[in-house]
Amino acid sequence: MTGNLLEVHNLVKHFERPRSLARRLLGEPRSVVHALNGVSLFVRRGETLGLIGESGCGKSTLGRAILRLVEPSSGKTVFDGVDLSQISPAEMMRMRARLQIVFQDPYASLNPRKSIREIVSLPLKLHGDGSDGENRKQVENILLRVGFRDDQFDLYPHQFSGGQRQRIGIARALVSHPQLVICDEPVSALDVSIKAQIIELLAELKAEFGLTYIFVSHDIATVGHLADRIAVMYMGEIVEIGSTHDIINHPQHPYTKALLSAVPRLVAGARQARQVLAGDLPSPLAPPTGCKFHTRCPKAEPSCVGTTQQLKPVLSGLSQWVACSLSEGAHV
Ligand code: SF4
Repeated sequence: MTGNLLEVHNLVKHFERPRSLARRLLGEPRSVVHALNGVSLFVRRGETLGLIGESGCGKSTLGRAILRLVEPSSGKTVFDGVDLSQISPAEMMRMRARLQIVFQDPYASLNPRKSIREIVSLPLKLHGDGSDGENRKQVENILLRVGFRDDQFDLYPHQFSGGQRQRIGIARALVSHPQLVICDEPVSALDVSIKAQIIELLAELKAEFGLTYIFVSHDIATVGHLADRIAVMYMGEIVEIGSTHDIINHPQHPYTKALLSAVPRLVAGARQARQVLAGDLPSPLAPPTGCKFHTRCPKAEPSCVGTTQQLKPVLSGLSQWVACSLSEGAHV
């Protein structure tokens, strides 16, 4: 067994958009959203991999495709030696006890008609094999651990604040003792002070339960505090990946540099000019040819339009990889 808990190989997810009746009658082809375009990565046991990029870059779809909450179009996900693309829905259901997710919007993901005790019990009812008494104890323990009092267990989600609702979501994800937790923008809807408390709680729980996290965020500052490594996504592809130190202090890809320049305090001792990205993210219905970043890249050259970029190591023996053949550090 390798030190990798998760390996993702060339994962692709393309969504076909439904056509209107008029378009169907006109015989127009279905349009296809290119959400993931061949993502490969690994996550080591016990580490936190940060996944960053703008809204619409495919990072949340990647989290859901790993868990098979959306079915990948192709590619392979291997979790703890098991190829998830080869197991039955029933086996996948059992596997979900070990692979959990904390959603961005805690309120939308919590059933308003259930008490928090019932909400947190659900994963054990679906995946657990303990007795009713054991399950009850497990639910109470995790609710206490994330900060609730026992007189709050039978209250409903609307009786709690946003931060408390996210604590319910965290308790629900952790009650079945998962190994891997995908935290999908878990703090982006919260106020700054509450955000800090939830990040601290997630860090404590990771250490206490020996968890492995994929932490999805559009905010490189948040990810920089938590992650051991960072993967930067753009238009359904990873454009740079490496240790948090290397990505923050020695970014190679122009997109990573632009994201970092918006948070200069992260860059050790540096005051750097802010790079404002030109234009919006192109439509995933019609992604640019060649390097997908060429429409917004300040370094783009004519060759970038026709050349698809692959991740390549920045320096031999180092663990930082970049998908830009014009990057100063890339080996080509
Ligand atoms: Fe920019 Fe060209 Fe590098 Fe793409 S390959 S990031 S367009 S310099």
